[in-house]
Amino acid sequence: MSDLRELYQEVILDHSKRPRNFGELPEANRQMDGRNPLCGDKTTIYLKVEDGVVREAGFVGSGCSISMASASMMTEAIKGHTVEEAEALFRRFHDLITGSPMNAGASEDRVLEQGRDLGKLAAFSGVCEYPARVKCAALAWHTLKAAIEGQTDAVTTEKPSSEGGRP
Ligand code: ZN
Repeated sequence: MSDLRELYQEVILDHSKRPRNFGELPEANRQMDGRNPLCGDKTTIYLKVEDGVVREAGFVGSGCSISMASASMMTEAIKGHTVEEAEALFRRFHDLITGSPMNAGASEDRVLEQGRDLGKLAAFSGVCEYPARVKCAALAWHTLKAAIEGQTDAVTTEKPSSEGGRP
């Protein structure tokens, strides 16, 4: 394991133990729940969006260290940025953690290089090697996107099952 990988693990551990921006945001004007049933991760994202800019971001939730660290770092990353920038960041983050398409077959150096200008979010570059954890890392971001778009249904990383008799 490279030193950088070790550093990345420390960053994730730190954010999962001491999540930033954790707590309900009373002044939020966007709010969305997200669930990752595969792992049991839950999150609620709060945003205060004004003039197309994410002024404040917060979250509450529970789950594995990847999901908690991802939500924590996401709220830090998007605060003060425009909605468009936040969505662009999500696309790049998603490419990073799914290892596609830019990373397909790329060397570790290449992956690390790609993540460099994502700042701390690059800590999740190792997640692409563990497909089961990708949804943990992406949950907060999918929930963010739904909140920005003003969707009303809670986000789930799994398709709704046929159980429960939905028409
Ligand atoms: Zn998880």
